Amino acid sequence: MLVGATALSVLTILSIVSYLLVREYRNTAQEATRATMNIVQLIDRDVRNTVTLYDSALVRVTNLLQSGVLTPLSSPTRQLLLFDRTSELPSCDGFFVVDASGKLISSSRPDQPADLNLTEQPWFKVHQAMANEEVFISNPFQASRTPNDWSIRFSRRMSGPDGEFRGVAVAQMKLSYFTSLLRGLDVGIHGNISLVSTDGTLLMQYPQTEAIRIGQNVSQAPNFIRFLNERYGSFIAMSGLYHVERLYNFSQVRDLPMIVVVALSTRTIFSNWQHTALLIGATTLLLCLGMIWLTWLLLRELRLRQHAERNLAGLASTDPLSGLANRRTLDDKLDHEWRRAQRAGNPISLIMIDVDHFKAFNDTFGHQAGDEALRRVAQVIKAHLRRPADLAARYGGEEFAVVLSDTDATGTRTLAEKIRIAVEHMEPVVPSERTLTISLGACTRYAKPGDELRALVSTADKALYQAKKGGRNRVVDINETGLNALKPIVVP
Ligand code: GH3
Ligand code: MG
Ligand code: MG
Repeated sequence: MLVGATALSVLTILSIVSYLLVREYRNTAQEATRATMNIVQLIDRDVRNTVTLYDSALVRVTNLLQSGVLTPLSSPTRQLLLFDRTSELPSCDGFFVVDASGKLISSSRPDQPADLNLTEQPWFKVHQAMANEEVFISNPFQASRTPNDWSIRFSRRMSGPDGEFRGVAVAQMKLSYFTSLLRGLDVGIHGNISLVSTDGTLLMQYPQTEAIRIGQNVSQAPNFIRFLNERYGSFIAMSGLYHVERLYNFSQVRDLPMIVVVALSTRTIFSNWQHTALLIGATTLLLCLGMIWLTWLLLRELRLRQHAERNLAGLASTDPLSGLANRRTLDDKLDHEWRRAQRAGNPISLIMIDVDHFKAFNDTFGHQAGDEALRRVAQVIKAHLRRPADLAARYGGEEFAVVLSDTDATGTRTLAEKIRIAVEHMEPVVPSERTLTISLGACTRYAKPGDELRALVSTADKALYQAKKGGRNRVVDINETGLNALKPIVVP
């Protein structure tokens, strides 16, 4: 019970602690997801606003050019009208217009060479090939003017009244704009915020790392494929670049070919949780081990006590010389078996045994030899008892008693005779010893309600007396042949 209770307590404690730690882990993960999702949303909104700003500037320029209202104006005035709003665009790195032949018509930057042929530019080819009115976002590139800065181009096609290709309006933006927005944001070790185009080109990354550069293509990375397929969401996966587990939160910027990704290392996210878990886990483990240890100590003490009690009980109920039950145990046993026999109507037998001429034995061979003889007789008697309910006891001095429950007169007599013969043939204690013998008086009774135990004892005693009187080394039993009628039977 003690072990069961301790095991249950330990299991309960471990279950509760595990449950709390798992719940705390989930809360931490949820909290991190929520916080990073907010960043994703903010960047998403900012990117959309920026693109909208650039696109409306492009729309304005293309509309002005397509309407022809600028044609009569002088070049500086046209320049002013076309590009007066570019200063409002965040991190604008130039705004220019090319005609259908790829020739630069107008530019916000005076340093732009006028004879530049731009027909080979991807954006030019895209707009030339498709009568599409959508804004086109280029791959990031390193502008030759500022090689450390990456830029991106937004462009729109200009069409004539019949949809024919008239040229392209292009706006250039420094990507450092987005990183400047994020400056100061702590994303921990192996954490970063990125903007990736849907074709897998890395457009922006905060903070910058050596593991991947702006403009690099990640379209084959399993995590990117997941961003592309799911468009919006969150998951935990291994980073192919950093080889650490990271929590990814991502969202495709609405209507734009860009994906915002905020990735945090799970080690950073769960570091506090790990410390707490380690502390609580270790404390709980110590507590449980302490409980188990205390239980073990208690169990050992209980066992020792039980053992001591059993020893004491054994000592209190055993005769020290013969090792058989003592007189007190015999009385208890007799009383118990007598009542049982009375209830069940079964026979109960008592054999009284007395060593013959023992005084003379003692006088001849000494008390030590006498004690040894008594021990051997006791062993012989004990060896003849087979049933657990039977009991052999030392009655006192050189007298013994055997209680046999549920054994009839014939069985009792047979057993008594076997004991007698065995003692007679016992190995001598002293080489010169003449044969040691015993006399046995047996009595078997079917106790009826009202019958007294004393009668059983006194009858067995009488039988023993008869055996002595009859010449010793013999069995005499007295049994009921009629109501309390005694009839001695002598077994030769
Ligand atoms: P009987 O055949 O009539 O029984 O003769 P007996 O000599 O055995 O009977 P008696 O009652 O005269 O003597 C019993 C002797 O048993 C007396 C005593 O010396 C001896 N005795 C009793 N208890 C012990 C014991 O614990 N150890 C030893 N060595 N002797 C004992
Ligand atoms: Mg005697
Ligand atoms: Mg005797």
